[in-house]
Amino acid sequence: MVNPEPATVSATNFIRDIISEDLRNGKYQHVQTRFPPEPNGYLHIGHAKAICLDFGLAREFGGRTNLRFDDTNPEKEETEYVDSIQEDVRWLGFEWDGLYYASDYFDQLYEWAVQLIRAGKAYVDDLTADEVRQRRGTLTEPGQESPYRNRGLEENVDLFERMKQGEFPNGARSLRAKIDMASPNMNMRDPVMYRIVHASHHRTGNRWCIYPTYDWAHGQSDSLERVTHSMCTLEFADHQPLYKWFIEQLRIFPSQQIEFDRLNLTYTLLSKRKLLQLVREGHVSGWDDPRMPTISGIRRRGYPPQAIRAFCAAIGAGRTNGTTDFAMLEHFVREDLNRRASRVMAVLRPLKLVIDNYPEGQVEEMDAINNPEDAAAGSRRVPFSRVLYIENDDFREAPPKGYYRLSPGREVRLRYGYFVTCTSVVKDASGSVVEVHCTYDPATRGGNAPDGRKVKATIHWVSAAHAIAGEVRLYDKLFTKPDPSEVEEGREFTANLNPESLAVLDGCRLEPSLAGAQPGARYQFERLGYFCVDLDSTPGALVFNRTVALKDTWAKVEKKSH
Ligand code: ATP
Ligand code: MG
Repeated sequence: MVNPEPATVSATNFIRDIISEDLRNGKYQHVQTRFPPEPNGYLHIGHAKAICLDFGLAREFGGRTNLRFDDTNPEKEETEYVDSIQEDVRWLGFEWDGLYYASDYFDQLYEWAVQLIRAGKAYVDDLTADEVRQRRGTLTEPGQESPYRNRGLEENVDLFERMKQGEFPNGARSLRAKIDMASPNMNMRDPVMYRIVHASHHRTGNRWCIYPTYDWAHGQSDSLERVTHSMCTLEFADHQPLYKWFIEQLRIFPSQQIEFDRLNLTYTLLSKRKLLQLVREGHVSGWDDPRMPTISGIRRRGYPPQAIRAFCAAIGAGRTNGTTDFAMLEHFVREDLNRRASRVMAVLRPLKLVIDNYPEGQVEEMDAINNPEDAAAGSRRVPFSRVLYIENDDFREAPPKGYYRLSPGREVRLRYGYFVTCTSVVKDASGSVVEVHCTYDPATRGGNAPDGRKVKATIHWVSAAHAIAGEVRLYDKLFTKPDPSEVEEGREFTANLNPESLAVLDGCRLEPSLAGAQPGARYQFERLGYFCVDLDSTPGALVFNRTVALKDTWAKVEKKSH
């Protein structure tokens, strides 16, 4: 059995307080939330934060959560994205109560639009999108009213109907709410409710050629689902008055919008548009490239969903945007894997080690602990023999000061094995060491000397005759800059891509217990880091991704700041 998850960190979360208060004073009787992704790309770790808030808070209050696809831009949306989003939400550990699409509400939204036209609260504008924009004014100057703002009710109803019938080309007309062109809030300056887009929709096909805008669709969809707390990121704060205005005009269920801070991570871009560009231009192998901050990328990389949830709980929700250190996310991944990943020995850059005084043909099964953090994980047998592989890095012919691992004349411990002392080396024509020779002390079996003598280093190994070969993919940050969007004039964010974000090591040697390891399985390679079996792996040709190295830089940073 795996150790239980640690208690969810009780981070500051102002939304929890709002919900408690709303229930206490009777504003709402129950909690209903929704997660509303637009199916125009794969979800990323920023969405994980929103998912944890939407589902997590509802769960805390015994409420319900819908998954609603905000599918109002037919040109950018695809079924592939709809499917991946469902898979990702489930993988994160959440199940929705209702599954909806904004497109489910196209008829209702149309009817409500006609209702607003009849109430004199909306009109068909013949200005193009560009002209509308030009007349919007600025923060300091009011906008200009459209010459079409005051056309008659019947004319509006008729034109809107004809827009729907497909009589006009893209962008020729729009439906706008009639609010206030002088409002200090730009979103209230007669916002567009419908635009003409002759495009096939992933669900409604060619039935519609007018599509609602985000502002017109979102709040009304919330209301139809009786969403009580509609959480979104801070950039929508300016849209809240409009969200309320539509609901008030229609006198429908009073959903409430609450804005929280967007997750930003150093060395990472969280924008579907930019992530799509990385995929399209081939900078990564796909949406699920293990270097991508997408949910499918980090899943493939080996991040456990429990770690993502713990990270999201720790960052909580706030009211000002900031940037979180990527190292903090890695810290949570490490902490989780430390508790649940089995330890194994793997040699990434093999160097042959021959124990000259070890009987030829002898094989011993050494007892190795699977997880020191989890007694129930038990132990396994690892074969030991005369010829081993050790990590190339663990031997230096001329050791620098402070280097305690193997070098000529030096004694070290082979993990779970014996003490060995290096006696000589074999070099190739170019002078590189290709074989290290040692003697072992049979009295040190299991790793301790009966006379109490100490060694300064313990190194890992695999038996050459028993090891299985494998490929290991080492990942580094995808971008070289903490803020990858920071570029010189005229350059693109792709200029900040790290050319060394992937290193593929062929011919790694793995202990035989890894034979048959299944894609997705996670391990700690002792002394090296956490690794997970990649999707490309086959029983005969194992492929591992490095999930995260062992060294925790964030824990150090945090300690210093306390
Ligand atoms: P992107 O800019 O990457 O396309 P988006 O906000 O347009 O993101 P949506 O599919 O509209 O993506 O988002 C669904 C939900 O996820 C919204 O409530 C949105 O506010 C939230 N969300 C998106 N990105 C983040 C982020 N970085 N941090 C927290 N929440 C986010
Ligand atoms: Mg969006």
